[in-house]
Amino acid sequence: MGESEEFDVLIVGAGPAGSFAAERLARGGVRVALFDGRPAGEPKACGGGVTSKALKAWPHLLEAMGRTVEEVEMYSPAGTRVRLKLDAPFAIYSRVAFDSYLRDRAIQAGAHVIPERVSVAAESKHGEPWTVRTRGGESWRGHVLVAADGANSAIARRLAGALPNAEMEVAFGYRAPLPKSEDAPTVIAFLPGWVGYAWAFPRLDHISFGIATSQDAFDHTSLDALLWEFMIGYYRIREDPRAPLWSSQSKGSSEGDSHAAVIEKKLRASVDRYAARIPGLAVETWNTRRVGSDTWALLGDAAGFADPVTGEGIYYALRSAELFAEAYLAGRAADYEQRCRADFGRELRRASAMRGRFYGDFLGAPFTDRMIDFARLHPGIRRTLRELVAGDQGYVNLKRALARSALWPL
Ligand SMILES: Cc1cc2nc3c(=O)[nH]c(=O)nc-3n(C[C@H](O)[C@H](O)[C@H](O)COP(=O)(O)OP(=O)(O)OC[C@H]3O[C@@H](n4cnc5c(N)ncnc54)[C@H](O)[C@@H]3O)c2cc1C
Repeated sequence: MGESEEFDVLIVGAGPAGSFAAERLARGGVRVALFDGRPAGEPKACGGGVTSKALKAWPHLLEAMGRTVEEVEMYSPAGTRVRLKLDAPFAIYSRVAFDSYLRDRAIQAGAHVIPERVSVAAESKHGEPWTVRTRGGESWRGHVLVAADGANSAIARRLAGALPNAEMEVAFGYRAPLPKSEDAPTVIAFLPGWVGYAWAFPRLDHISFGIATSQDAFDHTSLDALLWEFMIGYYRIREDPRAPLWSSQSKGSSEGDSHAAVIEKKLRASVDRYAARIPGLAVETWNTRRVGSDTWALLGDAAGFADPVTGEGIYYALRSAELFAEAYLAGRAADYEQRCRADFGRELRRASAMRGRFYGDFLGAPFTDRMIDFARLHPGIRRTLRELVAGDQGYVNLKRALARSALWPL
């Protein structure tokens, strides 16, 4: 085998975190190698929702091919609906379009993109660089190793330890055709009887439906049945606005049942399933898990940076990439961990502490039922919900924002 090529930084994984870090570093004159073994055209399992907070931070993201959304319908577990007009749009992307847009920018900035799956062959020791290698034996060396290889990161397991199942969410869903009617709303529906929510995110040429819930509570058969109920409800409402979202909560009619069966049959013939995990760190893990040193860093999902209440991870993937690039370019790569804690760590840690109550009961009913019932009547709660969807309502202030409307138990 010949000499392996040497870089300043090796980045494993070209999802949003890896590509964004590669772009920022390469623009700063750093020699970067960016690896990804995902076959071209295969999407990462994801709803593809990017909050307005992210679009405000990086307006160029709007250049990627996607759909912008200005209104969201939110359903309570009991099936009550509230429509939220957003102050600023959020965007929904196909992950093939979004990831290739970010990867192309990294290439234009000068990063070397290597379409290979790699693993760590040698750790950096005594000033010697890291080596990553393909199964075929091709290798590359670099002084700093960045793991941006997603929720199942093998590098994070090696450098920071494995996360238990209790700190993983599961999300799965289907890509389905857009309804024939013009009306294809973006929907978030809190689940009746389960932690988590279902979504309908219309994209340019299809809809992504899905459910995100905790791995501990995961029962595939029941949740898959619930997701089908949600999908069928979504299409039925397009034709009959009075149809229920959750058919199990309505009395049902034989006409309605046969209509649902027709929708289901058509959908079963056309959908495409996907599933993956999202990290959802426990409070203690936020305090203790290492995400970097002077010679390595974990970004995005590999670091566990996703919102434990919503499963939103794209913003944190991009922000952690930006914080790492800033720390590295300042000659202080080891400060990355501290920068993450100061920037968004406290918020996500608070989200983790609140998760149980968010999906728990309040005044004898699910909190999410109460929240949506109150939101229908109370503009203050509607504003807080709008800001949650936008990514502008932090968890550190959430309790105060809801308590102002007497909704959150103090
Ligand atoms: C079903 C589902 C729905 C979701 N919906 C949303 C949503 O609507 N909005 C939102 O903000 N977040 C959502 N998330 C979370 C979001 O997908 C992640 O937080 C985000 O993709 C994290 O980005 P990342 O760059 O850290 O990792 P990833 O996007 O996972 O990218 C990691 C990359 O590393 C590559 N890789 C892995 N191992 C190797 C290796 N050994 N060698 C080379 N390459 C490797 C993979 O091919 C992949 O391309 C969802 C997640 C799931 C599962």
